[in-house]
Amino acid sequence: MREIIYLSCGDCKRRNYVNRRNKKKHTEKLTISKYCRFCGKHTEHKETK
Ligand SMILES: [Zn+2]
Repeated sequence: MREIIYLSCGDCKRRNYVNRRNKKKHTEKLTISKYCRFCGKHTEHKETK
């Protein structure tokens, strides 16, 4: 089974990215620095469902 993960901006809370991944591993929450087009800069993105 695949799990759909959203990456939401830590600043504006918008969901900017969607990840699909295998459910077997990676149960920990990731924080990734990604570009947010709403903030216009790189921000910390957290996983949400
Ligand atoms: Zn943002």
